[in-house]
Amino acid sequence: MKEKKKDKKGKKKKEKFAAGNGNPVAVNGEGNPVVENEVVVELLGLSKKELVKRAKSFSEKYRVSDGKEFRLKDVDPSDDGGLDREDKAAAKKALQIGVSALAAMQDKLYARDKWAVLLIFQAMDAAGKDGAIKHVMSGVNPQGCQVSSFKAPSSQELDHDFLWRCAKELPERGRIGIFNRSYYEDVLVVRVHKQILESGKVPEELITDAIWDQRLQDIRNYEKYLNRNGIAVCKFFLNVSKKEQKKRFLERIERPEKNWKFSTSDAKERKYWDDYMEVYEDMIRHTATKDSPWYVIPANNKSFCRIVVASAIINTLDSLDLKYPEVDEAKKKELEEVKRQLLAEQD
Ligand code: AMP
Ligand code: MG
Repeated sequence: MKEKKKDKKGKKKKEKFAAGNGNPVAVNGEGNPVVENEVVVELLGLSKKELVKRAKSFSEKYRVSDGKEFRLKDVDPSDDGGLDREDKAAAKKALQIGVSALAAMQDKLYARDKWAVLLIFQAMDAAGKDGAIKHVMSGVNPQGCQVSSFKAPSSQELDHDFLWRCAKELPERGRIGIFNRSYYEDVLVVRVHKQILESGKVPEELITDAIWDQRLQDIRNYEKYLNRNGIAVCKFFLNVSKKEQKKRFLERIERPEKNWKFSTSDAKERKYWDDYMEVYEDMIRHTATKDSPWYVIPANNKSFCRIVVASAIINTLDSLDLKYPEVDEAKKKELEEVKRQLLAEQD
C-alpha cells in the first residue's frame, strides 16, 4: 500500500510535485503570473499518482524488455515526441517537475534501505551521457546517489575478470548507483577492436568466436543475480545519429569552452560507426529482459532525451513500490514520551 498524506481535517491530500522552488505558479519581475506552456500547466496540475502514471506511459515506448525482435533501424534518434525545440523554458520546467518527482521517490528508497537501483548509461561519444546524468540527477540527495565512470581498464583491472571493477562500485541498499559506461564496454569497444582483448591478459585459448555470446550470457545472468539480490537494473542507450554526432564534435572544436570535451580518439572511433551499431544492436537483443530492461532513448534532442530518462527512472522506482518504514507501537510510545518531555522543558 502506498501512503497518502492527510490535511488538517484528516482528508486525504493529493501529493503534488512543484517545479524546483516549490512554487507551482511562476511569476515575473512585477509579480504577475507567467503564462506557462500548456503541457507544463497540465503537468503542474497533476497529482503525484497521475504524474507517475504519465511518466510510465511516456517512457514505455522506449523500453525494450525482450530484445529478440529489436532492430536499431526501427528506432529514430530524431524522435522528439513533438517537443517544441524553441520553447526551452517549457522543456526545462517539464524536466524540473520530473526531477522533483524522482527526488521524492529517492527519499523513500533511502529511508527504506532495502532496494538499490543501478542505472547504466551507454552511448557513442557526444550522445549526451554526462549531461543527462547531470541534469536528471540534479535534484536528488547526494547522500543517496553515486556515479562511477569506467574508462579503459588499468593494469590492476586487467588482472581480473571483466565484471570485477564494476562489482566493486555497485550501489548499497537504499542508494542509486549510476554507471557512466560499464561492463558493457567489454562487448562494445572490445568487440569492435578485438586486439584490445588479445593484448590483455585473458588466456588465448579462451578467446574464441564464441566469446561475445558467452560474455552477453554472463552479463544477462549477472543482472539476474543482481535483481535477485534486490538491485533493480535499468539501462540506457542514448541513441544519437551519426550526423548529429558530427555537429556536436564540430561544436566542441569550434567553441573554446568545449575543447576539453573533445579527444582525437573520438573522431577515430567515429570511423567504426557501423561496427558499433552492430554490436550495440546485438547487446540489446541479448541483454534486454523484463527485470533489467534497456531504454533506447532518442538522443538528437537533448531536452527530450533527458525528459525520457527521468521518466524511465520514475518508472523503475515506482516498480519497487517504495514507502517510508513504518514505526511500531513501542516506538510510537517512545516518541510520544520524548515529545512530552521536550514540551515540559522550562527553557
Ligand atoms: P570517456 O567516457 O569519453 O571518458 O571515454 C572513456 C573511454 O574508455 C571510451 O573511449 C571507452 O570506449 C573506453 N573504455 C571503457 N571501458 C573500456 C574497456 N573495458 N576496454 C577498453 N576501453 C574502454
Ligand atoms: Mg569521450
